[in-house]
Amino acid sequence: MSKNCIFCKIINGELPAYKIWENEYFIAMLDINPAAYGHVLIVPKAHFVNLHDITDEYAREFLPFAQKITRAVMDVSGAEGFNLVQNNGASAGQTVMHFHAHVVPRRIGDGLSLSWIPKSQSKEFMAEMTEKLVKKLNG
Ligand code: AMP
Ligand code: ZN
Repeated sequence: MSKNCIFCKIINGELPAYKIWENEYFIAMLDINPAAYGHVLIVPKAHFVNLHDITDEYAREFLPFAQKITRAVMDVSGAEGFNLVQNNGASAGQTVMHFHAHVVPRRIGDGLSLSWIPKSQSKEFMAEMTEKLVKKLNG
């Protein structure tokens, strides 16, 4: 637990939340400022800053938990799709420095923007980037 962390305070019961589900590892609650009807957050009960911090155990537990929540959110919101969004670092839009994932229900024409402008790149660029990453991943 981290002293000044708003999500740790919610998990400790020091702050209220609209909790919808929990297990040993995660809680799911409504986002207090929803981007869409049924916007939910999935938050680990231990304090991890971002994706790089979470343990293998939490990582393994995450997807089954997320799937349970996204299925319920889809049914209840009547959405046509959803985004599972997870921001890491201020530059990526992370404002609460305790790992969390957003479940954002989507509809065609809902006007939400989580998108980027796709750019084309040269074969040389693509080959160079592939080489850099393959090299890094092979240590
Ligand atoms: P992010 O920008 O990915 O760090 O998202 C943080 C999210 O946490 C935002 O969507 C906030 O609306 C949400 N949030 C902040 N405080 C609370 C809270 N007390 N209860 C529920 N959601 C919160
Ligand atoms: Zn925390």
